[in-house]
Amino acid sequence: MEIILAKRAGFCFGVKRATQMAFEAADKAGDTFTLGPIIHSPQVVNKLEQMGVKVLKDLSTLDQGTIIIRSHGVTSGELEEAVQKELEIVDATCPFVKKAQEHVESLSQAGYTVVVVGDADHPEVEGIVSFARGKVYVVGSGEEAAKLPRMGKIGVVAQTTQSFENLRSVVSECLAKGSEIRIFHTICDATAVRQEEAKELAKRVDCMIVIGGYNSANTKRLAEVCSELQTRTHHIETAQELDRAWFVGVDKVGVTAGASTPKWLIDEVLARIRQFDQHD
Ligand code: SF4
Repeated sequence: MEIILAKRAGFCFGVKRATQMAFEAADKAGDTFTLGPIIHSPQVVNKLEQMGVKVLKDLSTLDQGTIIIRSHGVTSGELEEAVQKELEIVDATCPFVKKAQEHVESLSQAGYTVVVVGDADHPEVEGIVSFARGKVYVVGSGEEAAKLPRMGKIGVVAQTTQSFENLRSVVSECLAKGSEIRIFHTICDATAVRQEEAKELAKRVDCMIVIGGYNSANTKRLAEVCSELQTRTHHIETAQELDRAWFVGVDKVGVTAGASTPKWLIDEVLARIRQFDQHD
């Protein structure tokens, strides 16, 4: 059986950086915490917990120690609270997310009404929006943007995982709404690149394995796009979930993983598939 691993499977730049910073912080003495899970991988969160890193819902109970800021960031209020409490801050916010936050802040300081293209309930968007100092709207699509009122100066910023088409359609609606528009292309292509590679792979194999947290939106989306092209697609979190029966009659198996899946989980899956093959 030929096993083909997608080139860009697993950690993106921002998640890799955040995870490294979290493990380094965990290695140091003292109490260490994260606000919400550091990344959407229960296995990484468990490993950190074993090293003493606790996950908090908010900072209300915390008066001392180190707080690690997750890759998709937190709100300006939460950051301010950590500063006021004089907590040690390890800011692992992905630099691309940070850029979006900074654009929102500077646009609103310059008198622009800010339009954020994204999913209003996503913590990254909640964080980005919180940096606005004036009026701010979140829209999920061009249709939603069409319902916005007329504004003077409009600044557009996107959630990093949005599609370019969606940003374009919101911008196109905003053109009719204001006298001046500034657009910041804050989309990161890590998700789109993984999806394109996965689609290519799903077309040429007999079975697809997608590895990543069940709570990871980008992994779930990867599994969906693969399922559309390859009915024998299986979304798993760990190697233990692999079933020998999935590989019966399979010549080529494709493997990919979400942007929050660590390399060691991918390696374990590859090793187990090889074991199945050898014992056939
Ligand atoms: S997907 Fe992009 S923006 Fe999000 S953490 Fe990864 S590199 Fe950063």
